[in-house]
Amino acid sequence: MNKLYAEKTLKLFTPGPVNIPNRISVASSYVHYHHRTNEFSNILLATLERLKEVFGTNNQVLPVHASGRGALEGVYNNIFTQEDRIICVCNGNFGEMAAKTLKKNRLQFTRIFDDWEVDMDLALLEEAIVREKATAITVVHNDTSNGVVNPIKEIGKLAKKYNLLLTVDTVSSLACMPFKLDEWGVDAAVTASQKGLMSPPGISFVALSQRAMEICENNDSRDFYIDFVGIRDSLANRKQTPGTTPVSLVLGVNEALNMIEEEGLDNVYARHRAISLASKSAFEALGFKLFPENTKVRSDSLTVCMLGENMDVKSIVAQLDNKYGIKIANGIGKYFDATMRVAHMGYCYVQDMLGFFAALEATLYDLGYTSQVGKGVEVFIKKYNEAIK
Ligand code: PLP
Repeated sequence: MNKLYAEKTLKLFTPGPVNIPNRISVASSYVHYHHRTNEFSNILLATLERLKEVFGTNNQVLPVHASGRGALEGVYNNIFTQEDRIICVCNGNFGEMAAKTLKKNRLQFTRIFDDWEVDMDLALLEEAIVREKATAITVVHNDTSNGVVNPIKEIGKLAKKYNLLLTVDTVSSLACMPFKLDEWGVDAAVTASQKGLMSPPGISFVALSQRAMEICENNDSRDFYIDFVGIRDSLANRKQTPGTTPVSLVLGVNEALNMIEEEGLDNVYARHRAISLASKSAFEALGFKLFPENTKVRSDSLTVCMLGENMDVKSIVAQLDNKYGIKIANGIGKYFDATMRVAHMGYCYVQDMLGFFAALEATLYDLGYTSQVGKGVEVFIKKYNEAIK
């Protein structure tokens, strides 16, 4: 197959960026707006207003002109001070990334749950809180490296019991899985445009509790570029962001919210759940094992699997890409060759997954890993039909 043809048919099943619906591409190309006009301000404020439901908050949502890691660093710099003793839950790559960010910013923290294959334990978390006289916890909701989901509601209860600040990386869970910032007692949550919000990468959004915002106001060490007080005040006083707003990205996210509202947020969650359950069963039917083997709650936005005997992840990834125009992801870090990651987040429907499993089975056949095709598609459709009812 020639390269041009492959490029034309490329479909992303990567855990961000995800496929962008035509509606969003068209909306984000309508860039005649100047960012300092009323016309654009109205769209910006409406977009932020509608993001409240996705974050589960009544508080103002703040835009950050950076990808997710920039907004996460902004959270740590705006909210934490040198006096804080932070517990950093590290049970996945993005938990580890939080630890690296805290270290670079010279904040005091203790890592817990370094093992990516063992679920975090609330009793051990509580022990660590007491032992370290912690003032804060940082945790990832849905770790995109191993597909593990941390129990944020329960962690929120512990944070309340010990009066701790709680910051959560919701980059790969928001608009795919339910999240309730106000109800669960979360102080800060971050998402980015290129995952559940189905848009091009480059803008992020942050929701803060009232007490987190008060802490920001009194924190002299917060940054110049990502200053939540400055962003909030600029929105309130001028209906604009500080600096030049990435207009096209706001237009894209605004259109994504139109699509989410049309489908209904609960239906969006139900679609992710049904596709996830069906995918996990289909992978198992094809000889893959789910990773980590013994985790309690698995991601609805992606599936991470271990390879069956004698299977080679690089060959599968390459064959799917080169022959079928489908992109999936290898594992991360020490699991690079041992696992593969297939996303079903954002703009992903039953027909996309049927196409994916047909191509995966064809790939396994091409590579000589199986002599039969059809089992994955069959299991997927049965399980999907059961789950979507
Ligand atoms: N946190 C999680 C859970 C992620 O999946 C990612 C990206 O994949 C990030 C943070 C970093 O976001 P970005 O790549 O937008 O900087």
